[in-house]
Amino acid sequence: MPAAVVLVLAAWINLPLLSQVFDQSSDVVAALPQVTAFKRGQRLLVLSPHPDDETLCCAGMIQQAQAAGAAVYIVWVTAGDGFEVAAALSQRTLKPSIHDMRALGQLRTNEAHRASAVLGVPLGHTFMLGYPDGGLFALFTTNFEEPYTAPRTGAAKVYVTGALTPSAPFSGQSLEADLEKVLSTVQPDLVLAPAPQDFHPDHRTLSYIALRLLSARHQASRLRFWVVHGGLEWPLPKGLHPKLALTLPPLAAQLPWTQVTLTPGQETLKARATEQYQSQTRIMSRFMHSFVRTNELLSPEAAAEERLSPPKTSP
Ligand SMILES: [Zn+2]
Repeated sequence: MPAAVVLVLAAWINLPLLSQVFDQSSDVVAALPQVTAFKRGQRLLVLSPHPDDETLCCAGMIQQAQAAGAAVYIVWVTAGDGFEVAAALSQRTLKPSIHDMRALGQLRTNEAHRASAVLGVPLGHTFMLGYPDGGLFALFTTNFEEPYTAPRTGAAKVYVTGALTPSAPFSGQSLEADLEKVLSTVQPDLVLAPAPQDFHPDHRTLSYIALRLLSARHQASRLRFWVVHGGLEWPLPKGLHPKLALTLPPLAAQLPWTQVTLTPGQETLKARATEQYQSQTRIMSRFMHSFVRTNELLSPEAAAEERLSPPKTSP
């Protein structure tokens, strides 16, 4: 990003106007309806593109669902093995090799299991699929049939230990077959998926796939949507502010958001689950902790209503 652009952005972020925008957004959030209460016997599946998304988006909801007697399941679609800076730090090298990147995938898989255990989700309720971090759009498009080779790990098939289908080729077909397997096993009443407005291409692609698979099962109404990469600098302010509410993500502000209110105890456990992801917190602790707030947001729709309506015609 050119320096001038950075300066303009920095100036804009620090303008008093921005705090007004936040104040207004806080009012909007305070007025949001609560998510329909979770129920005993319900089956909830969290679709997580990378290890950590399930905690950032949904750790409070996961706890509340379990407290209500619902069964919670988590599926990680990738092992998060595309983040070179994290591999450089965890493997102590300036230029991570494909082996270092695969070691990162294994490390993040272990972190995911620790975080879900903190949230009370048993290992048997979790699924690691192990598809390539940063490669989901390729799998969904150009590599639906032909296996994709992930540039950072050099892998063209699932390699992480404990994956649902070891050695499954990196193709859209295999990914969808694995997700179908998870859906058939879990039989979820509710599926918490990334919203199509999320800025991260893996998140958006998983949203499209979830919409397609659940629609084919005539179960699209079971989908609920969350955002982790919500646009310019969101969530603000960065860092741990457990008394502040999460404001609306700029990229998806028009969605019909609902919220859950976390108890202080649920926030503490969310922070502890977040801290299991040391490979991530040592790089972006302030971003990750900025999701530990008094609320979490969930939309029952993938798009704002006006966008779903046919265009208005003049009389
Ligand atoms: Zn992610």
